[in-house]
Amino acid sequence: MDMQVKKKLGLKERYAHMTRGLDWETSYQPMDKVFPYVKYEGIKIHDWDKWEDPFRLTMDAYWKYQGEKEKKLYAIIDAFAQNNGHLGVTDARYINALKLFIQGVSPLEYMAHRGFAHVGRQFAGIGPRVACQMQAVDELRHAQTQIHTISNYNKYYNGFHNWRHWHDNVWYLSVPKSFFDDAMTAGPFEFMVAIGFSFEYVLTNLLFVPFMSGAAYNSDMSTVTFGFSAQSDEARHMTLGLEVIKFMLEQDPDNVPIVQRWIDKWFWRGTRVLSLVATMMDYMLPKRVMSWKEAWEIYAEQNGGALFNDLARYGIRPPKAFADACEAKDHLSHQLWGTLYNYGAATAIHTWMPGTEEMDWLSAKYPESFDKYYRPRFEFWAEEAKKGNRFYNKTLPMLCTTCQIPLLFTEPGDPTKICYRESDYNGDKYHFCSDHCKEIFDHEPEKYVQSWLPVHQIYQGHCFKPGTDPTAEGFDPLAAVIEYYGMNFGRDNLDFEGSEDQKNFETWRGEATRNA
Ligand code: FE
Ligand code: ZN
Repeated sequence: MDMQVKKKLGLKERYAHMTRGLDWETSYQPMDKVFPYVKYEGIKIHDWDKWEDPFRLTMDAYWKYQGEKEKKLYAIIDAFAQNNGHLGVTDARYINALKLFIQGVSPLEYMAHRGFAHVGRQFAGIGPRVACQMQAVDELRHAQTQIHTISNYNKYYNGFHNWRHWHDNVWYLSVPKSFFDDAMTAGPFEFMVAIGFSFEYVLTNLLFVPFMSGAAYNSDMSTVTFGFSAQSDEARHMTLGLEVIKFMLEQDPDNVPIVQRWIDKWFWRGTRVLSLVATMMDYMLPKRVMSWKEAWEIYAEQNGGALFNDLARYGIRPPKAFADACEAKDHLSHQLWGTLYNYGAATAIHTWMPGTEEMDWLSAKYPESFDKYYRPRFEFWAEEAKKGNRFYNKTLPMLCTTCQIPLLFTEPGDPTKICYRESDYNGDKYHFCSDHCKEIFDHEPEKYVQSWLPVHQIYQGHCFKPGTDPTAEGFDPLAAVIEYYGMNFGRDNLDFEGSEDQKNFETWRGEATRNA
């Protein structure tokens, strides 16, 4: 007997039906009207079908994998909370790295979700559209799992309760925020180079590995777990970033100079954001994983170097700022930590000066720079604080219009001189931290004159609560701004030494390990 048995589809066919097969050419409306953003950046795509899908994943398989991961993650978060896992971390200074994470990084995950959903809608090819859609869902999941995990710390420690508002307003957080705002307001191809390639492919190891290894070294199992859960999506994201670049470069030689300019821009913007991670690694982890300099050498110089060798065949050269970024590895973290310490009254993290052993570690890791330039400064500040002269800077710094970092970094080749550049545009003067930030501005001044610079906003009176009178007798502008920020003075900010976090941690750990 002959039976017509319906053949089960192979993985490849099934995948083709569930992705490519879903696409069609519009007929009621011209394609250009349906996909209005695809052409204006100047990128030329001749055949979207040449797109190679990096991961042949269908939505149903996707949900199954992700669901499994969620189950494991939430079981660990639960166990961590029930066992007061937070009392097991090395010391309470570590918790400030988590504050920085929820204030500065998790909101970026959410923005990445929005960004990928947006470009997923805008690409005229089904391949990248499906990949972007999955990444959008991943990023939303990352934001959620991070908020859920870290909310347990919010029950016990200061500096977590108002992170969303801080992200949008506070000076050191406008650095990561402006990075993503810049990417989101670019066209879809530039967004992919900014986030998919520069951020996810070139720089992500320098962001996630330090935080997650930092968590592991400092016994924070809950953070390690959300980190692993997110990192397992990362392989897909990195491949997407690389595929997009290669696709653009292969489609038309006219795309090469446009892509190169974006790589130059976003590599530099990325390294500026990473200065916060550098500082976290060298100063905020009681038990260090490796120095920023070592991480930079492995992930940027070696891995990045190999990547750009590979891209050379497309006519792409390493980012223009590469040499300057490498030169800065000896100085970045020390200069930024010094600034955070100085402005510790206006941060929602605690700051401190490293102890003797920690200074020795820094000397060993930074033989060219630490003893010569930074140790004397830090020892002097620590001495002064001991004598009761802890100095909190109450003036407002000049910010770089592009990366929004206060002008605190030094000239390449001269760590004793602040690097300062300026441009005139339409009768106004704009300030920059570097040649590279100036160049980014000069190429698109109309975009960057709109930058929401926290310091300018304070001076314009936009960061006071309604009813505040700056002309009143004894008006304290810093106190008024802290109030607007929703920071609790003395609890969220100032020194770690003597903080509520420090005292509570001591007491609770004591109760957990001794007979009270
Ligand atoms: Fe993510
Ligand atoms: Zn800058």
